[in-house]
Amino acid sequence: MFLVGLTGGIASGKSTVSSSLRDLGCPIIDADVVARQVVEPNSPAYVRIVQHFGSEILLENGEIDRQKLGQIVFSSTEKRRMLNSITHPEIHKAMLRQILFYFLRGYRYVVLDVPLLFETRRLTRFLNHTVVVYCDPATQLSRLMQRDGLTQEQAEQRIASQMPMNEKRGLANHVIENSGSREDTHRQVLRLHTKLEDSMEFLLVRTLAVVTAAGLGGLLLYTVKLLVL
Ligand code: ADP
Repeated sequence: MFLVGLTGGIASGKSTVSSSLRDLGCPIIDADVVARQVVEPNSPAYVRIVQHFGSEILLENGEIDRQKLGQIVFSSTEKRRMLNSITHPEIHKAMLRQILFYFLRGYRYVVLDVPLLFETRRLTRFLNHTVVVYCDPATQLSRLMQRDGLTQEQAEQRIASQMPMNEKRGLANHVIENSGSREDTHRQVLRLHTKLEDSMEFLLVRTLAVVTAAGLGGLLLYTVKLLVL
């Protein structure tokens, strides 16, 4: 099995592509969903966040007020680092568990849907392929305004706060060009899926797993022999 990172800019069409891949049967691990799950009430990260930031960051129902916490860490690098040091290891563990689950079920590749893949760069070294969903700036602006009901100025501000799409495009192995119709994008997704499915890269990890398992089995047998004889 191998790992494929999927990313894009705001409203470039990442969710649209991710749901097409899911419809094709690809396992998708959504980093945003995982990030929300690891801070659910009474999880280890939740307990540590409340210890550090106090109960004033909680909503009435006991959940973390993500907006409030976001505002607190936005204005302080130190607090942001603290929050990341609590959540990132938990996010990585949860993702790893899901990857292992799909590996054991025999999938050839898993897609990690990560909005800030190239901004944080934490995961890129584990990925065999990176895919950017791109659309031209004018289309991105109008889709964002329409989807989120924003004024042009608000939409431009959100786009400007991210890494420019052209830069992301230059960093990826594959680009899905989503400035045109949904059908055109779907055709590109199909081509990409076929290419990844046909790739033999998954064999390397499976072979390594078999060799490691065989090695461990041999070691176990040897230890048992030593103990018994
Ligand atoms: P992202 O996940 O990158 O923020 P979305 O997949 O939500 O972006 O797409 C942004 C908006 O544009 C959504 O309203 C979506 O339905 C629409 N959209 C995406 N791709 C196309 C397309 N090829 N043609 C027309 N509208 C599209």
